[in-house]
Amino acid sequence: MTGATVPTITLHDQTTIPQLGFGVFQVPPADTARAVSEALEAGYRHIDTAQMYGNEAGVGEALAAAGLPREEVYVTSKLSNASHRPDDARRSFEETLERLRLDRIDLFLIHWPLPTRYDGDFVSTWQTLAELAKEGRATSVGVSNFQPDHLDRIVQETGVVPVVNQVEVHPYFRNETVRAANAGYEIATEAWSPIARGAVLDDPTVVRVADEVGATPSQVTLRWHLQRGDIVFPKSVRAERMRENLGALEVELSDQQMAALDGLDRGEDGRCGPHPDTFDRIPD
Ligand code: NDP
Repeated sequence: MTGATVPTITLHDQTTIPQLGFGVFQVPPADTARAVSEALEAGYRHIDTAQMYGNEAGVGEALAAAGLPREEVYVTSKLSNASHRPDDARRSFEETLERLRLDRIDLFLIHWPLPTRYDGDFVSTWQTLAELAKEGRATSVGVSNFQPDHLDRIVQETGVVPVVNQVEVHPYFRNETVRAANAGYEIATEAWSPIARGAVLDDPTVVRVADEVGATPSQVTLRWHLQRGDIVFPKSVRAERMRENLGALEVELSDQQMAALDGLDRGEDGRCGPHPDTFDRIPD
């Protein structure tokens, strides 16, 4: 376990979330309990999963095996694109709690807005999540992949502001428009694919800064996010990389080093993932 304590971010509902966590996208379901157990062993106390990852049960198995006090672990999941209708959202939320073996989740998100599906109605979906928070089954609720106009619409039509918006952010895609919209509503930004799935790790600027501070490219990139104030949860199936990524807590970047990484932004060309305005995949 790293010597440094993971900082927390206070969300606008006054709950706190560990700023550095562990993501399990593309961790095979059969390997998830092992990976999450190793992450907890390494010192992670924030796990980010989703219904569509198909591995919530593995997360639940690892949490049960670890036997940590419930308040010491922060767990997030996200609503499947197949379950946006209010009745489906409620039913699938209950299934998520069962798979995670929890009676409440810390954070539940709408995974994608899907503006071209469900007659463009993500507002009733958001209203349903707001009800789950009111009932206390989800301590906090938020969204993922929401563009500024999507945020405006749910806030205007429901009056409920998400605590987080989880969107793609890394040095090749700084996504400043969405980060600014989030900040305007006091919504915390969660940066997904924080190391661009590995793509930034052999960038000459990242490698140079890593050499300067005596850290690895992944640690430097994660540190860049932390100093910007975003929440991150890098994924790795390898225990040594899980520990390496936690080492980002012990690095410090100067203003010039931060600016050097800022300068890598490629705008829209830098995205690794789909655009939220057009992404419409609904799983079987
Ligand atoms: P990341 O940017 O975290 O990169 C993960 C990749 O980098 C894996 O291939 C991993 O390989 C490799 N890697 C991890 N650490 C290191 C290291 N220290 N050195 C070298 N390579 C490394 O990508 P993700 O897309 O997984 O994003 C992180 C999390 O964000 C997800 O797990 C998920 O929780 C969330 N997410 C959310 C999305 C959304 O729509 N809301 C979309 C995408 C992600 P290996 O496992 O072999 O070590």
